[in-house]
Order: sequence, then structure tokens, then C-alpha cells
Amino acid sequence: MQYVYGFDHEHPRPPMELKDLLGGKGANLAEMVSVLDLPVPPGFTISTEACRHYLDAGGWPPELEGEVDAAVARLEELAGRQLGDPSDPLLVSVRSGAKFSMPGMMDTVLDLGLNDESVRGLAEVTGDARFAYDSYRRFIQMFGEVVLEVPDELFDARIEVAQATAGDEADARMSAEVLAQLAEDLKAVVAEHTGQPFPQDPRDQLRQSIDAVFRSWNSPRARAYRNREHIDHHLGTAVNVQMMVFGNRDERSGTGVGFTRDPATGDAGLYGDFLLQAQGEDVVAGTHATRPLAEMADVFPEIHDELVDIFGRLERHYRDMLDTEFTIEQGKLWMLQTRVGKRTGTAALRLAVAMTEDPNIRLTRAEAVQRVTADHLDQILHPQFEKVDESRILATGLGASPGAAVGQVYFTADDAVAAHQRGEKVLLVRPETSPDDIHGMQVAEGVLTSRGGLVSHAAVVARGWGKPAVVGAEAIHVAGDHFTVGDRRVEEGEVVAIDGQTGDVILGEVGLAAATTPPELDMILEWADEIRADRMSVRANADNGPDATVAREYGAEGIGLCRTEHMFLGEERLPVVQRMILASTPEEEQAALDELLEVQREDFVTILEAMDGLPVTVRLLDPPLHEFLPDYEALLRSQARDGLTEEETTLFEAASEWREVNPMLGTRGVRLGIVKGGLYKMQVRALLEAAALRADAGGRPIVEIMIPLVVTRAELALVRRWVEEEIEAAQATTDRPLQVGVGTMIETPRAAIRADDIAEVADFFSFGTNDLTQMAFGFSRDDVEARVMPRYLDEGILPRDPFESIDVRGVGELVALAVERGRKVRPDITLGVCGEHGGDPASIDFFTEIGLDYVSCSPFRVPVARLAVAQALL
Ligand code: PEP
Ligand code: MG
Repeated sequence: MQYVYGFDHEHPRPPMELKDLLGGKGANLAEMVSVLDLPVPPGFTISTEACRHYLDAGGWPPELEGEVDAAVARLEELAGRQLGDPSDPLLVSVRSGAKFSMPGMMDTVLDLGLNDESVRGLAEVTGDARFAYDSYRRFIQMFGEVVLEVPDELFDARIEVAQATAGDEADARMSAEVLAQLAEDLKAVVAEHTGQPFPQDPRDQLRQSIDAVFRSWNSPRARAYRNREHIDHHLGTAVNVQMMVFGNRDERSGTGVGFTRDPATGDAGLYGDFLLQAQGEDVVAGTHATRPLAEMADVFPEIHDELVDIFGRLERHYRDMLDTEFTIEQGKLWMLQTRVGKRTGTAALRLAVAMTEDPNIRLTRAEAVQRVTADHLDQILHPQFEKVDESRILATGLGASPGAAVGQVYFTADDAVAAHQRGEKVLLVRPETSPDDIHGMQVAEGVLTSRGGLVSHAAVVARGWGKPAVVGAEAIHVAGDHFTVGDRRVEEGEVVAIDGQTGDVILGEVGLAAATTPPELDMILEWADEIRADRMSVRANADNGPDATVAREYGAEGIGLCRTEHMFLGEERLPVVQRMILASTPEEEQAALDELLEVQREDFVTILEAMDGLPVTVRLLDPPLHEFLPDYEALLRSQARDGLTEEETTLFEAASEWREVNPMLGTRGVRLGIVKGGLYKMQVRALLEAAALRADAGGRPIVEIMIPLVVTRAELALVRRWVEEEIEAAQATTDRPLQVGVGTMIETPRAAIRADDIAEVADFFSFGTNDLTQMAFGFSRDDVEARVMPRYLDEGILPRDPFESIDVRGVGELVALAVERGRKVRPDITLGVCGEHGGDPASIDFFTEIGLDYVSCSPFRVPVARLAVAQALL
């Protein structure tokens, strides 16, 4: 098996499609070299297969050593220099590059190949001893930290001493002598800490660095990132070894990052930052003040033109917006990396539409639909801030990731996590962020930094997650447990708001206004609708008129689940429900039911009106009745403490009577309907009377009555008989024909298995995948997230939380079986899903595969589902 590929290697397929093998970075480097012929420093990629082998077997595959040697020899030939040559050394970088981008999560080693001899050669050949020793001390530190795991504080202490000697804070001013001494000191730190001298043999350095990059795949921060992004822990990373070029070489050198269009708005034109006389890390770290790319036209006009040309070629080739890193060494441009650029939701929509019209790109509508993700839509549909009084604006930074966030400020990732665990909404405020802050960024409502540009770590990560961020708010000075802006001081725990669009940092709470959406949203969704028309529709889970109206505005094609228990709550209704439960005579019970009927009918009228002409699936009462009674344990405690009032005593007795050891498996759903027969009849009557009223008013109500938690055919057959009696009675009150279906939820494993029997008495099935997951796994949906699920995900025991994304192999198999058996008995049966999975793109993919007729999800999720269904069908 081959493990190592030169960037110029011929592949049977375009290298950009080989991300599984070469990782994203390696695949795109190979594309730039072997297909586009761009100026890229030569190098090679060690495949992800080698990494997987290393992680499984604890060492290199036997062939790898020879392949790396051959690749190094070829690299030396292309570069015209040798690793470790004491007169003119080749230096290389060693970088990770996984299939999916994991910004800053894994390790990198730069300037590899320097040692006590070659540093002198570098000094001679460049005529710049300062530069050579600066590179050497950077390398020792990076190799020490990354490969040898020497704590960075140990290095920092020595660097401070050197800076003090140099008498200047900026390390650019340290002389060659000071830097040479610093290199010696840093080597001594390594020797002290590891008990071994700093490795002098470049082959040794390379081998150890490759191992370190392989190992960094499993670093805690990389694992945490993958858990968050649902990236498979088994993929492994590729390793890219590439000739170093130096942006810090002289005044005709520099480095930068560039986007082929604006990743925040989608506007055309070069976009990015650059720095003169600096190395790549300086731009991304946010520690230096960068200059906008447009200014490069003044400093390096030819390079600017060359970049414009390269950006155009990249866009035409990839047919997308690209993000690049480049370095200029002594007036020569080198492209170090490119990839399809991360973008905000607004930019994603605008780019997708614009690129259908761009004569160089000509995306098809189907391609445009595929360019927008669920996360992009989430960002767009997020609420934004209301207008605020100028005087409350503390500072303005760069709006790096849109959306509005309000939270109590914390200044370290750990403090942010602790506050989050106390239930606070948190805003993480840092001078700048690094991968070590990821856990704090994850729990934060938003991120604010005082340094860094639009491509700083904070900006890139937040944008990728759709989390609001403001970066580079330079007026803010973070100091321990507070920050200051001029003479204003803001303490830890105070509330601050940030606007990721405008960059405003505002003191105190700010109200949220409805989201504004670019017109391209509707275009993309319409194109998505064209793709899925007649194949799968999208409904909403809504249980009142206003929600149904919103859902329809978002494009819902009916209601897939109206949970009627929500109509039983609220101050006025709950006592009536309690009266029904507590009734000691049939008359008392009927009186309470009659009262409930009145209010339910009104609710149904508004819902049917909002969804006129579209199907409305109403589920009869599902939860155990004790949910409508006060908490038994609490009553027990107060009885012991200060006794109960007469009313409380009655409720206590009822709560005690209805109490069950395992209520989710107890008297709920159709079981409750059968035990408390009057209840379902009342609900059906209220619904059908509402339908008759709507029909008489000229509307077109389409009603589907849904029975929850069915396990056997007999249960459904019994309830269906009652429902049919009610339909007949309601039909007698109006001349217009009522359109009513009767069906069931499939949410128990037995119901799925016996779907054939059940289909004999069901016009439709709706898969309740929440309960089906609960019962198939035997995971209590109310408890499992607290302890078991986080552990299972960390350990990789489950690839994803099955309550979030359907477990295709288990729960999915039950759904597929029910589809097949149900359709066999009743080919025209309508099949949908109304569990939370109905709004999850990965689950939707599966539901399209097994041919469901619709998915149903929360109203705000409807646009995402419309898009996801189309994408799944393409
Ligand atoms: C389900 O179980 O998937 C469902 C939609 O019902 P609920 O969440 O109300 O139990
Ligand atoms: Mg359920």
C-alpha cells in the first residue's frame, strides 16, 4: 500500500476529491500543484491511512519509513537543497490536515531541519544571522512544546530574560547574539525537562514531528471539537511536509490570508489581511495589527495582480469561494493553502444565488441549493438586536460572526464553563482566543476579543459554529477579573451584549428584534421546493393558532403533530383538568369534560383556520394524567412539615392514586384514552365541531386524528370505532363533507414490528421517533442526557446522540420495517415522522431513503427541513 504522495503526484481522480486519503489540506495542495500549476512550495502528504495505522498499532506501517525517505529525497531535489545541510539547509513545515477542517485543533511544526550547524549555514546563505537564529529559537520552542510536550511557561521565562537583555519588548528587535543565546537557553530547557539533548538530526526531528501530528488527532481538544462537530474519531489526519518559505525574511517579504470574496457578506472582490515581514502564524494569532489586502496594491503591486489572477483561476476551477494562505518571500509569491471558504449564512445564500449567474461559474439551481447548510439557515433565522441608544455602546470591534448575544462576562474558558454549569448565560471575553479556549467558546452565547482580525481563531471558529462574535475591539483592555474601556470598568458577571453584525459591544441587556433575511433565502428555498415537490413534504409541530401561522409563513405544508396536552395547561385550564381527574361521579366528570370541550374547540378553530386547505394532524392526549397534578413528592414533604390545606389534601390523594413507578411506560397515550373513555371522545368531538364550523364558514379543514402510543391493532380498532361514531355525529350537523382520517403514531417497537396488523385500521402512520428511540434503546429520554449520554459520546460508544439524529441501524431499522409492512397491507397509507428527528438533516436523509411522505418539525426549523429534504433527494 502507498502511504506517501508528492503534491505533484498523478492521481486517477482529481486530488481535490481525495480528502479521505490526503486530508483537506493535502488534497487541495495537490490540486493546486498537479492540476492548476500554481506556485506552491514543494512537499508531500502522508495519508490518513498511515495515521490510522499508527493510532491502531502504535507505530508506523513498515513501508512508511522507506516512502518518507524517498519523498524527502525528491523534495530535496525539487528544492535544490538538503535537509540539515550545514551550508544551505532545506527547512520544512510539518502540518496536520484532516478530511474535515479542524482549525487549530491539531499540531504544526515549522522551521524543521535547523540544528546547531545548519543554523550557521542559514545565516551565511541569507546573510542574515538575526533571521537564522530567530528561526532556530522559534523552532526549538515549537518542537519542544508540540513534540516533546515541554510546558510553554518554561520557555516563556527564558524569553522574558532575553527580552530584558535586549532592552525592548518587541522580539523583532532582539539582536542575533541575543537570539543565539536564547536558542541555547531554550535547548537547555528542553534538556532539563526531557533528560535528552535537543535532537540535532533532521530525520529524527521529522520522524518525531510526524508522530506528534498523528498523536494530536487524539488530543482532548481535538476530540472535543469532533464531538461538537460530529466528526468520526476514526478518520485520522494526514500529515503535510512542505518546504518552508519565509515571510519574515526581509522587507520584500510578508504573509497573508485571503478570500476570493467577502465571507461575511458574499460581496465580490478580494478580501483578507496581510502583514509585512511576518510568518503565517502571526496573522492568524491576532497578535499583530494586520492590513487589509486591498492595501497590497500599494506595497506589492505585481504580487497583488498575481493574487487577483490566482483567485480568479481558483474560483473558476473550484466554482466556489476560496480561502487561501500565502507568503511572499523576497518578492516571490507562494500559495501555501487553499480550501473552500467558510462563510456566514447571509454570504452562503448570496454566493449561491450570485454564482448561478456568474458566467465563469454557472452553478445549476440544484448545485446552489447544495451550497447552503442547515447551520447557515439557522444563523439567518436568528434574532438580531433592537436598536440601542448610542450611549450604551461601550466599544465597536469587527463583526466577525453575525447574530446577537447577551450574557454575563467571564474572562477564562474555565470560568465560562463553571458559570454555564450554574445556569448563567455567558459571554466569553478574551484578549484573543486559542484552541485551548474551545470549551469556553462552546458554552458561551457569544465571544468577544480585544485583538485579532476577521480571520483570527475566535472569528473563524465562531463563524463556523454560527455563534455571534465580535473581535478586535481594541478599546477593551482585559485585566484579570474585569475589563476597562477608557475609565469604564466592567466586572466579571456583569451583563454585556454583542452584535456580531455591526461589531457593537453594549453594556447591559438588549432586546431582540425579529431576524432580517436576505431575499436570496426565498429563492434558495423555492428552488429546494421544486426539487422535493411531489416527493416529500414538510409539516410543522404546532399546537396553537399563532405557531401554526408562523409555521405556514415558513413554508409548512400542514401540521404533522398538534400535541393537545399543551391545551390542557395554563392557569385557567389546569383546574378544570384536575376537576375531571378528581371527579367522584360520572356527572362531575362530564361537567369538567364539557368545559374542556368548549375551550378545545376554540383552539382547534384557530389552528384549522391558520392551516386551511392543509392537513392538520391532531394527537389525542398522550402524557400520563399525573403530569396535570401537583408534584407528589413535594406535597409529601410539605405534609410532613406544615400539613396540607383541604384542597391540597384532595390533590395529594389524587396524585398518590395516579402515581406510577414508571410513568413513561404507564397509563399514557391510548391506554389513558381507554381507561378514561370520556376524554378522547370529548377531544374528538371538540375537533370535529371545530371542523364543521370551519367548513360552514367556507373553509377547507382537513383533519387527521392521531392515536398515540399504540402497541396493538385491538387498541387502535377500539378507539377508531369511537372516533367514527363522533365523525358520523359531526357530519350530521353540516352539509359539507368532512375530510377526516384516523391513524396512529408508531412509537413503540411492537407497533413497528406489527405495523401490518395496525395498518388494517390506520389511514396513516406518524413515527414518534422520540419515544421509539427511548423504547428501542431503553434510554429514559428525560434522564439519559445528564450522565450516560455525554460519557457514551466521549468514549465513542455511540457515534451521535440518537435523540438528536436517528440511529439508522437500530431505530431506523424499526421505522423501515414498519414502512414496508404498513405499505404491504395498505399501499396508499400516508407515512410521516414527527419526532425531533424530523428537523435533523442527517435523519431526513434516511427518511427520504425509506420513502416517507413527510417530515414534521418545529415551526422555526421548517426552512431547514425544506432545504435538507431537497439536498437529501439530490
Ligand atoms: C415522539 O415520541 O417522537 C413524539 C413526537 O411524541 P412526544 O415527543 O410528544 O412523546
Ligand atoms: Mg411520543
